[in-house]
Amino acid sequence: MRLVLLGPPGAGKGTQATRIAARFGIPQLSTGDMLREAVASETPLGLRIKHVMARGELVPDDVVIAVVADRVDRSDASRGFVLDGFPRTLVQAEALDRELAARGIGLDAVLELDVDEEVLLVRIASRAGQAADQGQPVRSDDNPGAFNTRLKAYRAQTAPVSEYFRSQGLLRVVDGLQPIDVVTKQLMEVLAACV
Ligand code: AMP
Repeated sequence: MRLVLLGPPGAGKGTQATRIAARFGIPQLSTGDMLREAVASETPLGLRIKHVMARGELVPDDVVIAVVADRVDRSDASRGFVLDGFPRTLVQAEALDRELAARGIGLDAVLELDVDEEVLLVRIASRAGQAADQGQPVRSDDNPGAFNTRLKAYRAQTAPVSEYFRSQGLLRVVDGLQPIDVVTKQLMEVLAACV
């Protein structure tokens, strides 16, 4: 099962991708996690993208495409994967299609979490607040300034990706404002109908 999970920042992609991955026994490939790991380990790539990420801007396409292409070749992804946070631009979507086609595989479905922007602003504030309360590190991009930049990047660059997959007949949209378990249930129903 090869899946993409789309949705604006704070829509709950990470939570739902984790659940889908567990249910189908496939890895969750989160580009945000991979890039944050590179930043935390201060690799040459991490040092290059640290400030871009902290501002909430998108990392250059070629960088992310190379990271994902490497990751899908690892053995744990041979039976499938759920991509979380990628593709985020049309260039990335087309590159993903090309990379998968070169391996003789393709996507089974693209799931989108539809969420109102006002609600996202409240969610992101509460995510940062909860992390701080629990003594956990707060993401450097979980602040109103960077979040607005992330939302703008989503509107301008990622929203067209939905249309790209819609035109391929792969897009399935679920209302992401429902309680987390209801969203999961609906995603599972959509996936059951796809396979
Ligand atoms: P996320 O955890 O998915 O919200 O991603 C956090 C940050 O990582 C984003 O704001 C970007 O700076 C960077 N990032 C993650 N995925 C991508 C991607 N597909 N393209 C460009 N930048 C990305």
